[in-house]
Amino acid sequence: MRAPHVFIETFGCQMNEYDTELVRSILKEKGYRFTDAVETADVVLLNTCAIRENAHNKVYGHLGALKPLKKDKGLVIGVLGCMAQNLKKDLLEDDSLIDVLAGPDSYRSLPELLEKAAAGRKGMAVDLSEYETYADITPDRIEGVTAWIAVMRGCDNFCTFCVVPYTRGRERSRDFDGVVREAEALAASGCRQVTLLGQNVNSYRDGARDFADLLLAVADVRGIERVRFTSPHPKDFPEKLLEAVAGHPGICKHIHLPLQAGSDRILQLMDRTYTRAEYLALAGRIRARCPEIVLTTDIIVGFCSETDAEFAETEDLMRHMEYHSAYIFKYSERKNTIAARKYADDVPDAVKSERVTKLIEFQRAVSLKKNREMLGKTVDVLVEGEAKRSSDRWMGRTDGNIVAMFPKTSTTRKPRSLVSVRITDATITTLYGELV
Ligand code: SF4
Repeated sequence: MRAPHVFIETFGCQMNEYDTELVRSILKEKGYRFTDAVETADVVLLNTCAIRENAHNKVYGHLGALKPLKKDKGLVIGVLGCMAQNLKKDLLEDDSLIDVLAGPDSYRSLPELLEKAAAGRKGMAVDLSEYETYADITPDRIEGVTAWIAVMRGCDNFCTFCVVPYTRGRERSRDFDGVVREAEALAASGCRQVTLLGQNVNSYRDGARDFADLLLAVADVRGIERVRFTSPHPKDFPEKLLEAVAGHPGICKHIHLPLQAGSDRILQLMDRTYTRAEYLALAGRIRARCPEIVLTTDIIVGFCSETDAEFAETEDLMRHMEYHSAYIFKYSERKNTIAARKYADDVPDAVKSERVTKLIEFQRAVSLKKNREMLGKTVDVLVEGEAKRSSDRWMGRTDGNIVAMFPKTSTTRKPRSLVSVRITDATITTLYGELV
């Protein structure tokens, strides 16, 4: 008998990409196989994100598109991840297309849920756990030079706009030695770069050992040439972590430091627990200790009651910071969050749009300027594969996480590791160069 084939689509952040690898591993163990074509699938799983409204709408769009296949083939449809967790029963009741719901702490129940669904019984598993870290499961990765390792799950910060503490539960750290062993296994399989993931990596703890200890231990794994991490929270960025980043050649000189807003009143309403001055002081400390650092950020515009003057403070802070790049979004109210319960989402959408456009335009100009500063320089690039839209080029990333491309030479064999590339051209998002 043909093994059931699963098509998985992943939305949202790197943590979700990592969770998809865990789900693949759990299902593979039970005999499921995978397909890249939804038409040949018996099961379709959407691993969802609830953090922004457009991610949400995308999932509903995809569900609608599956309707004919569900009708013709009796496809089993499952919704996984944050949206499943956040919407729980609503999703099963409102949308008869869905057979299975599984939240981020319930992926071990998936084989059982899918078996029941194949027999016509819908089901869900959305309980949050204080302990689940999936530490014993080796993610089913597509082998390559880069890989993610989730070192902790959940978040205890309760920023007022954010659903993560409700959809992913309380903070839990994986055991230190298990993470290092996973990095060693990855190195043995040819991986050269590991990105350590956590909602707030600075909260990582295993006994007396903290995140800086873990980062250093992974960076020391033989064969791993680069280590990245995302994201630290600006409220508790320790000196020890800064020393690790600045001092270890294997730790990438890139820090994603989410700002969210430049006004103290808005930061307070968001419960970010740092002020504008504290953020600037931290960024100054980082740049003084590590001048080559690439800083990137996240910004939310139009948070509840944000005035023009408060938005101008965000603009001003961005001008001062000159981030290399930034994810800039309009605030969208998320069900169950503190902001949804306490504050009115009262900034008109047209004003949010105007603010977001203004910041994006500003950031594009800064990103272009920063990339142009690289012209004529030679940088180390870790080659990831063929460029997506140009089969005659290799694509990789600089230490600062900037995409870099260069022409393939006479040999079509992919360079396996770090190469030196002299930068000859630059756009807002990409550096172009030639192999040195
Ligand atoms: S730190 Fe704040 S924004 Fe980040 S996941 Fe936790 S609650 Fe959400």
